[in-house]
Amino acid sequence: MGLAEYKKKRRFNKTPEPGPEKQTSEMGNIFVVQKHRATALHYDFRLEADGVLLSWAVPRGPSMDPTVKRMAVHVEDHPVAYANFEGVIPEGEYGGGTVMVWDFGIYGPENTTSVSKAIAKGELKFALLGQKLKGSFVLVRTRDRQWLLIKHRDKYALDEDIAETQPFSVLTKRTLAEIAEDEGGNVRKAATGDPKTLPRRRGVKRRKKSAKKKVWHSKKRGS
Ligand code: MN
Repeated sequence: MGLAEYKKKRRFNKTPEPGPEKQTSEMGNIFVVQKHRATALHYDFRLEADGVLLSWAVPRGPSMDPTVKRMAVHVEDHPVAYANFEGVIPEGEYGGGTVMVWDFGIYGPENTTSVSKAIAKGELKFALLGQKLKGSFVLVRTRDRQWLLIKHRDKYALDEDIAETQPFSVLTKRTLAEIAEDEGGNVRKAATGDPKTLPRRRGVKRRKKSAKKKVWHSKKRGS
């Protein structure tokens, strides 16, 4: 596909997303999953191949449960630099809303040496080594742009809903609402993409929504 469609859909003087340049990552085989609260919540699943990120929008997100098939819509290729993009796309722009780097790592194809050829044929088996997603998966085309993302049975398979149990950014440990708050986005809209109750987090300190910023009154000192 290339990046022509990616370029056509975006105004790069309005969006903070990376420009449409082809490049290869240092590893050459990265994958990223971005949680994206746009018009509807979805997870963008991206695999590096031939200088771009092949991309699928997965409405319910990847599952680690081999009995679950997740619908995945093949969308336009994205630039490799997109893998680091976490922030807010302004409302009114294409994909307007909050983006989180939900998982990141490397992958290896399992049934081919050419990822692009396997995708053209409609089936790619691959193994992921991410922080959340691990082990063997398959992407298989059902019709047109519709694919299914399915976990294979292996030692990494889980029956918990990983989207609920691991909702934080792997880059910054933030929730969608916190990213929106920090980057000037719509916090209420972003919060609808976070679980209602958050699992515990380590190593993250944030000001409570209700708390006022602490102000240091120099006059009080020494008086
Ligand atoms: Mn998206």
